[in-house]
Amino acid sequence: MDERPASAILSEPAPSVGTVWAAGVLLETYGLRAELTDLRSERDRNFLATADTGRQVVLKVSHSAENPSVVAMENAAMDHVAQVDPTLAIPRLVRTRDGSATVPVKAGDGRSHVVRVVTVLPGVAADCLDVPRGFADDLGRWSARLATALRGFFHPAGGRAIEWDPRRVHELQPYVERLDPSRRDLVAGVLERVVGIGERTASLPAGLLHADVTMSNVLVQDGAITGLIDFGDMHHTARVCDLAITITSLLRVVAATGGDSWQASARVLQGYQRTIPLDTSETELIGELVLARLAATVLISAWRAPENPDNHEYLTGLDAGSWLLLDQLTEFAPEALASRFMGLCGTSRVRSGQRPDPSLIDRRRTVLGGDVAPLFYQEPLHIVRGDGPWLIAADGRRYLDAYNNVAVIGHEHPAVVSAIVGQARVLNTHSRYLHQNIVELAERIVATMPEELDTCLFVNSGSEATDLAWRLAVTSTAATGGIVTNCSYHGVSAATSPLSSNTWPNGYQPDHVAVFEPPHVRPDGSAPDHREARQRVDAAVAELALQGHRPALLAIDPMFTSAGVLTPSAGFIAGLVDAIHAAGGLFLADEVQAGFGRGGHALWRFLDFGVVPDLVALGKPMGNGHPIAAVVTRRAIVDRLSAKDEFFSTFAGNPVSSAAGLAVLDVIDQEGLTARACDVGDYLRGGVAILADTHSALGEVRGQGLIAGIDIHDAQGEDRSLTLAVVNRLRDLGVLVGSTGRRGNALKVRPPLIWEREHADVFLEALDQALTDLGRSSGRRGDLNP
Ligand code: PMP
Repeated sequence: MDERPASAILSEPAPSVGTVWAAGVLLETYGLRAELTDLRSERDRNFLATADTGRQVVLKVSHSAENPSVVAMENAAMDHVAQVDPTLAIPRLVRTRDGSATVPVKAGDGRSHVVRVVTVLPGVAADCLDVPRGFADDLGRWSARLATALRGFFHPAGGRAIEWDPRRVHELQPYVERLDPSRRDLVAGVLERVVGIGERTASLPAGLLHADVTMSNVLVQDGAITGLIDFGDMHHTARVCDLAITITSLLRVVAATGGDSWQASARVLQGYQRTIPLDTSETELIGELVLARLAATVLISAWRAPENPDNHEYLTGLDAGSWLLLDQLTEFAPEALASRFMGLCGTSRVRSGQRPDPSLIDRRRTVLGGDVAPLFYQEPLHIVRGDGPWLIAADGRRYLDAYNNVAVIGHEHPAVVSAIVGQARVLNTHSRYLHQNIVELAERIVATMPEELDTCLFVNSGSEATDLAWRLAVTSTAATGGIVTNCSYHGVSAATSPLSSNTWPNGYQPDHVAVFEPPHVRPDGSAPDHREARQRVDAAVAELALQGHRPALLAIDPMFTSAGVLTPSAGFIAGLVDAIHAAGGLFLADEVQAGFGRGGHALWRFLDFGVVPDLVALGKPMGNGHPIAAVVTRRAIVDRLSAKDEFFSTFAGNPVSSAAGLAVLDVIDQEGLTARACDVGDYLRGGVAILADTHSALGEVRGQGLIAGIDIHDAQGEDRSLTLAVVNRLRDLGVLVGSTGRRGNALKVRPPLIWEREHADVFLEALDQALTDLGRSSGRRGDLNP
């Protein structure tokens, strides 16, 4: 059935021309001798022409009242699609002998009609058949493909109004009274609930679309779609309207045959979204647009059928399915219908606009293990969106993120989001097939490391990276002991929590782990050097020996973040490396915190010390929030593991994760974030030092690049509770930081590297205010802009 609008041209009769006349036009104008048969049509006349050669074309005689520019638009659209997507099966225009797209021909009825000829596609209209298997998915794909092909199409005639347009259904209000009285309330109710639907689509993606990819215009052969025809309803509309028209058309048939409308909708949407992913703002409108289109169908039928008794069957052919579907869908209130379609599309899972929910804390405690998974801040934050250096809470308040090193290039960086979404749309699977992304990422990382570090193994978290580093070390050295600093953190796994002295309960120390003091500067200003590093490690090795262990691994975070953010001398780090090598163990630079440019001089902090680690662990910022991590090491170390076992982790280095990793490296590189970390970090620490003139609670400021450990103390010395009070006050003032250090007495400031100096200013002003509010100011004001 041709779902064309009734319009002015319907009041005039269709062209009164016959097959003999049409055959003459075809021969004279196109040079084609053919047998003609009449095809069904509402307002035009169409003839199927079969030439002696077997070639078939359709000769279309447009209504004399048809706006010629609309015909020109249809032709231009077909040419456009043929050009941008040549394999998409739509009719092609056949030119006249002299190369014209159309030709005006005077008919025996005295009127002049525009004639054109198009090619014939195989198959029959889908509304003539039972719906084949897989049709719904295919329908979605074809609809999206055509919409994509038409994306760049423009024609001045595209602004025309079509009565079938679901956004204009209110214009059909006068025909409600022509409906069966028992049905009027239902349709009036639909018209009421879709008030404003046009305005709601006004900001959605739109274009000059086919707007009639329906069962009557989709051709099927052997169970598969073979083509799309009839550009006669083209107009400028929201793409979700175009899609809703397609869905409505299928659902009418599904409803009429007792099928499952939700399943059919899900399939169409799946097929469609493989090419055109939809936004929440679109998917929430699909149901209402379907209802509007159904209302338009029954109203146009009520209007036209009585006026055209000869054509009654044709004009009411869509009614039965429409009524069934109207009954089904109006069972759902608008919100419920929206949420069903959003659920089918997956967009209900994107929760960027959550409202504050007072029950969330209790629900979280109940289901996430209570104290095992604590929240930050006395008054926990409900964050719903990220935007560069900002985090936005459910109440709409914006917080400056001075804490999260994971979002190294800023929250929701579009480059990473696009890389993840784009790759997820194409392929995401494990790494046991060849794939470009994982190889390229490994090559890129290895190229940033000293030559000896030639092998990259992917995992999914920092803990897995250090866990694997531990396993490689144990396998490689055949030893069993670990050496870490006091206040270390290397992970959460069964193998790495013993290496995380920061998390040990009071008085606990695993037998196979020895600790040494991190390189704090002494009160006299002296710092531990190479010799002292060796002494500390030697003592740890001796301690392990007492427990019957030789050292397999010495692990450090080269930024000593959990120890309060320390900046040791190169000599100290070299001393650690020399000492552990002398004892037969390996050296792990755990760059999970420090890596990816935070140190401000190089991508990796260990490079500042001129050492070559045996193992490097990468994690947190590696995917800017997407879980990906890695161990970089020498091939010989890995070979010792592969002599016994292989290493594979299902998600590790998958195409999506690797795409995220590549995007992060690109952005750090192209935006020069490492150097910026240096500049903004120096500025930040300089600003804190100036504030210290005013605020007696501010002590030493440490760090390099964009990280700062800021000691907080009161008159009695280091003060953990004051530090926590400052952290919480800063949160109330809209700035997020954490605490760190031996006694939890230092502020940990570790922002995304995209911070500019202006963000440091926001932090400094808030810190000034927080300390003032907490009564820890000496009354003098510092200059905040050094
Ligand atoms: N190593 C270091 C130095 C870390 O800071 C962390 C996490 N803070 C880890 C390992 C563990 O990483 P994840 O939490 O991703 O397992």
